[in-house]
Amino acid sequence: MAKRTTKKKIRRPQVDKGEAGERVRKIYPILTKLYPGARVALRFGNPLELLIATILSAQCTDARVNMVTPGLFAKYKGAKGWANADLSEIENDIRSTGFFRNKAVNIKGACQAIIEQFDGKVPDTIEELVKLPGVGRKTANCVLANAFGKPGLMCDTHVIRLSRRLGLSGNTHDAVKLEFDLAEIVPEKNWTVFSHVLILHGRNICRARKPDCENCAISKYCPSAHKPELW
Ligand code: SF4
Repeated sequence: MAKRTTKKKIRRPQVDKGEAGERVRKIYPILTKLYPGARVALRFGNPLELLIATILSAQCTDARVNMVTPGLFAKYKGAKGWANADLSEIENDIRSTGFFRNKAVNIKGACQAIIEQFDGKVPDTIEELVKLPGVGRKTANCVLANAFGKPGLMCDTHVIRLSRRLGLSGNTHDAVKLEFDLAEIVPEKNWTVFSHVLILHGRNICRARKPDCENCAISKYCPSAHKPELW
């Protein structure tokens, strides 16, 4: 009879908000020094272009999105251009970014809503942005932070993973709860830069499969450093 193996459940240490806040205070200056001028990698010229680029970036690399957006922005002019376009034509033009059917519906729907409810302008509050089709808090925060210069915490896959490894929140299974946890321990004026430096650190060092703890500038403050069972 085959031997039954039971997967050992990993118990993560409880997250203490005070300690997590202290950790943020320690790592923030290190990461901002390491990644000066960290900014969003998507290319855009106005809030609508960033909104569309962010919708396209779901399950797709920023580099791939940046390859297709110049042609798209030249073809579809403003919210009206997208709202009046044929859905199958949009699908065809954005096919290479993956999940193109959903994305096309969301982009066209968002542009129609922008015209009908917001006088043709992308709204600049999170409450209004999340009312647009296909726009969740991550996309809304990205637009707020990078197109409108307002503080925004962008909880993408890198921010989620690093927040878990760094013990910044016990809610890393839920991006919205994580955002609210981070909002309590990161000063509001630093929300945007904090998101960008965590994203860059996730791409460069604290990668999903094999984090490079050996060469990590914040390993001294990381509870998961050199502990594969916690990655
Ligand atoms: S020490 Fe390791 S797990 Fe912690 S942030 Fe650095 S690379 Fe990631």
